[in-house]
Amino acid sequence: MSDAYHAVPAELRLDALWKPFTANRQFRAAPRLVVGAEGVHYRAADGRRILDGCSGLWCVNAGHGRREIVEAIQAQAARLDYAPAFQMGHPGEFRLAERLAAMAPPGLDHVFFVNSGSEAVDTALKIALAYHQLRGEGTRTRLVGRERAYHGVNFGGLSVGGIGANRRLFGPLLPGVDHLPHTHHPEHNAFSRGQPAWGAHLADALEDLVALHGAGTIAAVIVEPMMGSAGVYLPPVGYLERLRALCDRHGILLIFDEVITGFGRLGAAFAAERFGVVPDLMTVAKGLTNGAVPMGAVLVSEAVHRTFMEAAATPIELFHGYTYSGHPLACAAGLATLGVYEDEGLFARAAELAPAWEDAIHALRGRRHVTDLRNLGLVGAVELEPRPGAPGARGFEAFLRCFERGVLVRVTGDVIALAPPLVIERAHIDELLGVLAEVLETID
Ligand code: PMP
Repeated sequence: MSDAYHAVPAELRLDALWKPFTANRQFRAAPRLVVGAEGVHYRAADGRRILDGCSGLWCVNAGHGRREIVEAIQAQAARLDYAPAFQMGHPGEFRLAERLAAMAPPGLDHVFFVNSGSEAVDTALKIALAYHQLRGEGTRTRLVGRERAYHGVNFGGLSVGGIGANRRLFGPLLPGVDHLPHTHHPEHNAFSRGQPAWGAHLADALEDLVALHGAGTIAAVIVEPMMGSAGVYLPPVGYLERLRALCDRHGILLIFDEVITGFGRLGAAFAAERFGVVPDLMTVAKGLTNGAVPMGAVLVSEAVHRTFMEAAATPIELFHGYTYSGHPLACAAGLATLGVYEDEGLFARAAELAPAWEDAIHALRGRRHVTDLRNLGLVGAVELEPRPGAPGARGFEAFLRCFERGVLVRVTGDVIALAPPLVIERAHIDELLGVLAEVLETID
């Protein structure tokens, strides 16, 4: 590895910071720092450009350093830096809520602001529980998630999430949670282009839970319409439709966690639109502000919202919220971001680029170590055969080697996830997949 690539400014001391989801002890010995970003590139301390193959952490959908967004944040900071979130308001939060509701599938008309994806998930779960209470169905307290799901790191999201490593050290978590089976099957689904054909029947596991516990005990089902962090798993054709039908039949709320899939990743504003299935509650974050200011939101159906407005026995309809809910800077960033998405037609652009993207991903078929390739819109995954006795080692090595060659990818275990900014050009796609192909030849 080149030393320049690990260069750290002389005055920086690395040991005070404890970085999240990071091998800190390794990282301090060989840190990767970026000091700037523009378009589809990061800039390292030594001036090297790094092609951003994962939109930061799936959030910088409009590309880095967008002038419109920067200027909106600057202007807002100078005009109104902060407004109390409770019992007070400022125009930006109303404007953004309206704009977001207009962009969302019909029926998701009300918006509750939070500061992250994790907060959005826990807020959505709490709204679901309170909704049933207000309707006189307080026995509906059970929550249903899925194996391998990632719903953030707060206690609700961890409880419905299905990634063992994230849960293991934190005790019993929420009671009354079940997990549906995940939908990936290496034999049936490998090398699917877009949604796999096999697996819709796995939604029927919800029927088994209903039989086991009684429909009147289940409050909500939460799924990522496309699993992101677990390694980019697309829903089998018909799966989400089946979940929707079962939820309707049994009075269970359906929550889509669209923290990754929101804002164009799949070639439509939301996965709900792309797949034609509308949930009762939808969580978003990340691309909402293009990653520039932390923000998340829960979009709520008219029926759920109306229940609170009509049935709450207290003047305050929901005893929940955050100091920074609807923060003025986040709202300014969000408004500017949605403006960029719309003005530049970036969701349609993602859809237009998708066939070339799909071909570029699947051109890796037959390369060393590759056991599966997955894609939809502008998201993709390259799954590698784990090194015997060392799961994740090959994936991490691929990540390091790509970075050395000026390409940033995201790796979970032995799955390399790709999710470039929606402004990516064809030449960048060739570069991204070209470097990855070379790297696969160089690793054991
Ligand atoms: N839900 C999903 C589907 C996510 O992918 C993520 C983040 N990757 C989260 C929730 C949590 O978001 P945050 O890190 O902003 O809390």
